[in-house]
Amino acid sequence: MALRKTKIVATLGPASSEESVIERLVDAGVDVVRLNFSHGSAQDHIDRAELVRDISRRSGRPVGVLCDLQGPKIRIGKFENDRILLKVGDKFILDAACKLGNQERVGLDYKTLPSEVEPGAVLLLDDGRIVLSVDAVNGGEVYCTVTAGGMLSNNKGINRQGGGLSAPALTLKDQEDIQTAVALEADYIAVSFPRSGADIELARQLVEEAGGHAAIVAKIERAEAIDALEEIIDAADVIMVARGDLGVEVGDAAVPGLQKRMIRTARMRNKLVITATQMLESMISSPIPTRAEVSDVANAVLDGTDAVMLSGETAVGHYPVEAIQAMHRVCLEAEKEYDSQHLKAPIHDEFGFIDEAIAMAAVYTAKHLDVKAIAALTKSGSSVTWLSRSNTNVPIYALTTERNTRRKLSLYRGVYPYHIEQPSRELGKILYDAEELLLRLGAVQRDDLMMLTFGEPIGKAGGTNTLQIVKVGEHRREQH
Ligand code: PGA
Ligand code: MN
Repeated sequence: MALRKTKIVATLGPASSEESVIERLVDAGVDVVRLNFSHGSAQDHIDRAELVRDISRRSGRPVGVLCDLQGPKIRIGKFENDRILLKVGDKFILDAACKLGNQERVGLDYKTLPSEVEPGAVLLLDDGRIVLSVDAVNGGEVYCTVTAGGMLSNNKGINRQGGGLSAPALTLKDQEDIQTAVALEADYIAVSFPRSGADIELARQLVEEAGGHAAIVAKIERAEAIDALEEIIDAADVIMVARGDLGVEVGDAAVPGLQKRMIRTARMRNKLVITATQMLESMISSPIPTRAEVSDVANAVLDGTDAVMLSGETAVGHYPVEAIQAMHRVCLEAEKEYDSQHLKAPIHDEFGFIDEAIAMAAVYTAKHLDVKAIAALTKSGSSVTWLSRSNTNVPIYALTTERNTRRKLSLYRGVYPYHIEQPSRELGKILYDAEELLLRLGAVQRDDLMMLTFGEPIGKAGGTNTLQIVKVGEHRREQH
């Protein structure tokens, strides 16, 4: 398969729970699978993660696992007959005390909603398909008029235009789900609806207390999160441009500009970014994407995203494999236009870390010499973060003894992670093996130039302190 820089995240669901389908998704190029904790039991997720890891091992393609916590999505309750039809001008009541809804009212899972809205507030249901304008609040009842109507069915989400609902980001269910995610050795855990850096820090603390190593993904999907964007990015390892809920809270028209700002800010702060939601939405029921969807995926690549994500397309769609194939070809093509004008090799900046300085030296040198590949021997992945954020066009092969690090690196743009056995302490042998691996992968050929970055002594996390340039096959053959 052609070397694609942008990574693909695919949500698993009923359309993609069978082994043969997951195999085909992995073959088609999935880098990370997303387990959506809004659905399914803990055991379902554990079984799925195990299956994915089996398939990944067999195919030799590293696949990361991202557990996406449900978060405090505020939802209506259920209806007597599962759904109702609301027409513009209808009166409708959201009632914290209502058990089973009907044409007049429906219950709420978030009982404090009535105390957080006032007359004039605009509530958006089902991702904004239905709009209610609040007329009055009386105790636990919110009296509304329908301003955009349609079918409303059980458990649909509610957002408030402009944000301002104060549900905490980690519910009790999320806290339990963190235990499950740690038990299944999640590589990434996504926090839904965070409002601040503190929400992310709390999640990280819970993950660490449970003994997990997952990187933390902050989903930017509330108006408040935009105000606290830099603080949230600094607290997280990865952000997700969660366009579904975000579009409802800030208005759909604001999302494209915010997407660009989020990607730019995350990259500047050396963090990763996933662009998500409705990227190939029409492929839920069609084998080919629309031109607009193709443009959307390509534009996310041109914005500099690390990964693009599929939700319903792979979870419940009719064409999950085709959706991955479409992502793959669109990303590859867009990457051709994203060239080294974006290269970040700042000659005037001061570096804070030795491994950062080595990474920048590697990137700068690679631009001026015809270097075919960079092999980064890494334990924690930190040197690889610097390499990846630099936007170099030279492929970065991350070689690591740590399975956790390998899986985590599968999300980085332009990085190809490989697991290597615990290397001998003998540096010459380690470097020889690295060169052999890149030759075997077809990343380099005899007489090409390649670079190696590593730490001496070998095996210390964050200890990258050495950059070596070699002509493939030249010295080491005699030595070994
Ligand atoms: P969700 O998050 O799919 O869990 O709602 C993504 C989004 O809101 O875009
Ligand atoms: Mn969401």
